[in-house]
Amino acid sequence: MMDRCVECGLNVQKTDRWRDIKGYEGKYQISDKGEVQYWDDNKKEWITKAIKKTNKNNKYNRVNLTKSRDSKLKYVHRLVAEAFIDNPENKETVDHINGKRTCNCAENLDWKTQKENNEAYENQKRKK
Ligand SMILES: [Zn+2]
Repeated sequence: MMDRCVECGLNVQKTDRWRDIKGYEGKYQISDKGEVQYWDDNKKEWITKAIKKTNKNNKYNRVNLTKSRDSKLKYVHRLVAEAFIDNPENKETVDHINGKRTCNCAENLDWKTQKENNEAYENQKRKK
């Protein structure tokens, strides 16, 4: 079964593919569509977590993860890439293939070196 990413219209797997977020195993999970859920220990169920939308200074969606009272704002696209996209060469940045920075489905993300990412960005600017 296929579904569409609400941001880009790309086909994504309909079955929710959830994977543990590294360092938050059993507590937070990320889906291949860029959704985050957390385990509610009182209700004994997974609850969808609100994602912080972009603002003027920061163009990427973020989510607040809490562990032992320690809160961290994480970039959603990095969480998706770390969970679903192989990175055998240990590239350091995550590129949004279609240029839409709020589109965090796994199909739209790819690992790139800083240099490759800059080149992709320049190409997109030239197209506009
Ligand atoms: Zn998308």
